[in-house]
Amino acid sequence: MTDLVLEQFWEHMKVDPISGCWNWQANRNHKGYGQYKIDGKTVKAHRFAFEVNRGKIPDGLQLDHLCRNRACVNPEHMEIVTSRENTMRGFGFTSLLAKRTHCKNGHEFTPENTRMRKSARVCRICQRNYRNKSRKKLLQILVIASFVACIVLLGAMTGGNSAFGESEKSDCLFSPFRSLIL
Ligand SMILES: [Zn+2]
Ligand SMILES: [Zn+2]
Repeated sequence: MTDLVLEQFWEHMKVDPISGCWNWQANRNHKGYGQYKIDGKTVKAHRFAFEVNRGKIPDGLQLDHLCRNRACVNPEHMEIVTSRENTMRGFGFTSLLAKRTHCKNGHEFTPENTRMRKSARVCRICQRNYRNKSRKKLLQILVIASFVACIVLLGAMTGGNSAFGESEKSDCLFSPFRSLIL
């Protein structure tokens, strides 16, 4: 490989200062990978860039774009994998989840708002909302239950049941929760 060929090759890429991707500007194939013609032979630009910088890719193995940008020819953004690994990473459930930037309710997965549970990310805002909701529900059930209990007790007392004295009556009126605790 002559220096001139290499020089010309690198002229076709543009560095993205944010992602660090070296975006291929010339031809791309239908899958979005850069293409380049060297000595009349068309090669994949990202494979070529990798092999020039980091050595030959063993037969049967593939290059995986860690940056998920197929047009990128930055050798540091690629890793040699088996074809199975590559498929798993590209379409697998975990990779889909990892690519998601927001939770299902639209809260962003920022470092502050993300908790790792096993290998899944959990949104803290959602978790807090969920906890508050179940707490409210529990309180509602408690209030309703104590009302029902109170009504039953009052009914029993006004019905002339002598099992309840005056003290139980006032307890029931002033503290609806008492009947639950007892
Ligand atoms: Zn990249
Ligand atoms: Zn959320």
